[in-house]
Amino acid sequence: MNMLEASVAQLDPVVALLALVQITGDRSLLDQHGPALRLRPGDRNQTMFTGERRGDEGGADGYEDAAAQVRAMLVAEMKAGAKPLLPNLDLPLFRKMAEFAAGQPLPDISVGPAYQHSGFTTDTRVRRPQKAPPSDFKVLVIGAGMMGINAGVKLQQAGFNFTILEKHGDVGGNWLETRYPGAAVDTPSRSYSYSFDPNPNWTRFYPTGPEFLHYIQDITDKYRLRPQIQFDTAVSGARWDEERNLWVVEARQGEKTQSYEADFVIWAVGPNNAPNFPDVENLDKFRGPVMHTAQWDADIDLEGKKVVLVGSACSGVQVATAIADQVGDLTIVQRQPEYIVPNPLAHTGVDALERWALENIPFVHQWLRFQAAALAYQDLRGLAVIDEEYRARTGGASPLSDMIKRQAMDYLESHFGDDPAMKAELTPSYPPFAKRIIHDCGFFDTVKKPHVKLLSGAMKSADENAVILADGRRLECDAILLATGYKLMFGRQFDIRGRSGTLRDAFDPYPFSYLGVLIPGFPNMVYLGGPYSHLVANHAVVSEQQVHYTIELLQWMVDERLASIDVTREAADRFVAEVDAELSQTVWANSGNAHGYYRDQGKKVVIGIARHNSHIWHDTRSPRAEDFEIRRKADAGEDEVRTPTRLSM
Ligand SMILES: Cc1cc2nc3c(=O)[nH]c(=O)nc-3n(C[C@H](O)[C@H](O)[C@H](O)COP(=O)(O)OP(=O)(O)OC[C@H]3O[C@@H](n4cnc5c(N)ncnc54)[C@H](O)[C@@H]3O)c2cc1C
Repeated sequence: MNMLEASVAQLDPVVALLALVQITGDRSLLDQHGPALRLRPGDRNQTMFTGERRGDEGGADGYEDAAAQVRAMLVAEMKAGAKPLLPNLDLPLFRKMAEFAAGQPLPDISVGPAYQHSGFTTDTRVRRPQKAPPSDFKVLVIGAGMMGINAGVKLQQAGFNFTILEKHGDVGGNWLETRYPGAAVDTPSRSYSYSFDPNPNWTRFYPTGPEFLHYIQDITDKYRLRPQIQFDTAVSGARWDEERNLWVVEARQGEKTQSYEADFVIWAVGPNNAPNFPDVENLDKFRGPVMHTAQWDADIDLEGKKVVLVGSACSGVQVATAIADQVGDLTIVQRQPEYIVPNPLAHTGVDALERWALENIPFVHQWLRFQAAALAYQDLRGLAVIDEEYRARTGGASPLSDMIKRQAMDYLESHFGDDPAMKAELTPSYPPFAKRIIHDCGFFDTVKKPHVKLLSGAMKSADENAVILADGRRLECDAILLATGYKLMFGRQFDIRGRSGTLRDAFDPYPFSYLGVLIPGFPNMVYLGGPYSHLVANHAVVSEQQVHYTIELLQWMVDERLASIDVTREAADRFVAEVDAELSQTVWANSGNAHGYYRDQGKKVVIGIARHNSHIWHDTRSPRAEDFEIRRKADAGEDEVRTPTRLSM
């Protein structure tokens, strides 16, 4: 068997059929072979977190015959080497194929988002440009992580004159900085990557940090963005010049202070702005190394050492699992237990034959990418939104929430059923999703190792050779590791001065935004990943949607010769009132005793909104002109301002 035959033999026949339809242009193949290849009921549940469709062997009657026929036809077509006849799908056909791929209906609202995020189009633009962006219209992007690089690619394609300022000497942001052992993506990378340039050859379903970093570096080189990036340039603030309608941005390059002027500024400085150090006394008295996971120093040797790890959330479970076999003794201090769900794919490599199919068989990549995210196109608000009637009846937050709780509790039982004390220690007392759900990367097995101990408690202080907990327990150790998360600053780390005050003042008492990116009084500026951006979709999805919206704003400015655009206070207040009302019904706001970064200063939820991501996708297709105060350039003439077109849902 050659590579083609071997690869097709292991390929999901559903995906093989979808690729075959696009290669041959023969839609009738769907009706002919589809029914026999339909998913068995129950298969769908397994895609809840892993995003993978499993266990399809031996489904409906005639499954094997249909699978064999489809695979044989696909091999024949590939050998013939013909050019695919249906590279572009119309939306009704896409929907029919997508529903077959997922084994369930695709809601109306999700057809457009699914088409784009699966990678069936690389051009998301709605506004048909009337004018080319003039070269003296300057756009400054701050940050060269996933979002800044995304902005760079799209600005370049749209013809804007732009520069990216980056404080480090390379691109990658979070994935350049986060280097603790075990650091990995916890969203399947088939969907946590750019849909306009996905990677067919991930070695794992959940790649480690270095592999993801390599992806961003590769995109930077492929799109020749490096000449547009000024590295080692750390921005400290920006001032809006009302007279000249531009931003003056201040940055430091080593000892030098540098000023930049820009008509439009895109902040892409990421959510994880600084390590969050616990508020403890005498940490400096400790004689051994103290290391935060966000500032990992690979030169510190932990071999055989007695280590105390503070924190057991996303980073904590990853680092504990990665270092357990290296250290002599590991004590994990957990402030509170987490919901941990099984994920058989957490450490699984992508099979070489599947990688071959992804790289060589047209459309396999898009359809596997769609399947990886298929569940996200359904209405999953029930994970976070409380169903009052259900709560009154059962005490649970919602049926979906209880389903996840059962999954986590069954998994806990399967590991610690014979250890009631440990089971109690690891059982959360807050609702699922009040904090991020953790996918087990081997943490439960790690905790069971004889030299690993898990304690509930809070670190209060340190002395020369121990961690002291709030209840007085003293944990002697050679090294202290802090997996205590990050600070989410939302721009408050900078001195940003808008029309009538600073961003810090505007965000007192809490940060807010309009559509996750705009803040009234800060014209010609977007803050990517701003307040109310996250929680309902992965970062790549948020990035693409917000960058798309930014390009629409910019082209609107160019076409209409607008000197400034500023979202109105009324529009922002209305958005905030609506999303806050929705948030008040969620477990993020009604979080019981859950700690964590979902609540700004431990109080108000500003990290996400309780809307379906497909809803957000539609809201960010085009700017609503009526929500902006616009000023036209002096020489703009008297033409009527063209209201941006809106896509219908
Ligand atoms: C261990 C870990 C795992 C994660 N896994 C996932 C996941 O699976 N799925 C998911 O959706 N998200 C995940 N995240 C969140 C992750 O941060 C984002 O997905 C993403 O990498 C952030 O991209 P970004 O471009 O917004 O920000 P960053 O990657 O943080 O990039 C911001 C850039 O701005 C630069 N910058 C900052 N300040 C300045 C300044 N003053 N001047 C100039 N440049 C500046 C930084 O140096 C950096 O290059 C994870 C985070 C961590 C820590």
